[in-house]
Amino acid sequence: MKIIIHGGFFSESSQSDEVKKQKQDSLKNIIKKSYEFLMSHDSMETVIYAVKLLEDDPLFNAGIGSQIQRDGKIRLSASLMDSEKNKFSGVINVEDIKNPILLAQYLRDEEDNVLSGEGAISYAKNKGFDYYSSETEERRNDYINNLKSSGVGTVGCVALDKNGNLAVATSTGGKGFELPGRVSDSATIAGNYVNKNCGVSCTGVGEDIVSGAVAAKIVTRVTDGFSIKDAFSKTFDELKEIDGFAGAIGIDRLGQMYCQESHPKVVYASFDGEELIVFE
Ligand code: ASP
Repeated sequence: MKIIIHGGFFSESSQSDEVKKQKQDSLKNIIKKSYEFLMSHDSMETVIYAVKLLEDDPLFNAGIGSQIQRDGKIRLSASLMDSEKNKFSGVINVEDIKNPILLAQYLRDEEDNVLSGEGAISYAKNKGFDYYSSETEERRNDYINNLKSSGVGTVGCVALDKNGNLAVATSTGGKGFELPGRVSDSATIAGNYVNKNCGVSCTGVGEDIVSGAVAAKIVTRVTDGFSIKDAFSKTFDELKEIDGFAGAIGIDRLGQMYCQESHPKVVYASFDGEELIVFE
């Protein structure tokens, strides 16, 4: 069993050592809890569990503490995929709910697996999701300062369970101060993708991640015989051609975990039951 999580990027220039320590501690806590959960649940249940914990932590730009868009509103996007059913489900730009990853989970059982905007909002209401404002004082201050200092965020998880099934989940508040209607990579196969061979979750500038088809490309390369390291490396090399800003975490079917970034540094942690690695 293996698990790897991320909490977006850490920016040395705009975030303090104290925030770094808080993020490291939070990731350690969440990855340990999630690994314990994985011991008695499958990979899909576990990525939902881990991403919900990350959404509930205001330190990260997903769920509570999400960034605010140009019109002053918060819109959340999240997606989920597993290798067993090979099914992708997600929500794009949903408002006023606490955990978009739980809405993505509901959508797995529908005929229409990805919903956006108004449709996603009324679907959430029909499913009984309570009104919830994800805004924090810190994000409102970032918004007032045009979010120039907060850096990028997003959270994600890839897990491999004891039956060899992989699953991925990714959730975001977006890049901050974007135009209403802008679509993040996090609920697309560029930002969140898995098959029987590999699973990948991304963070960074959504436009670059979509242009580089990052998660889908890495997974396809591993499927076609690349090692996970080479698949990440070639995909990130290609991203240089567009000066792309991205980070990604992944696990292959053999349980090899990997993280790569185009710029320092992705906030991530991995755990295999023995060795706990946390970004420094
Ligand atoms: N990828 C997210 C987006 O562009 C932002 C992030 O990862 O920080 O919406």
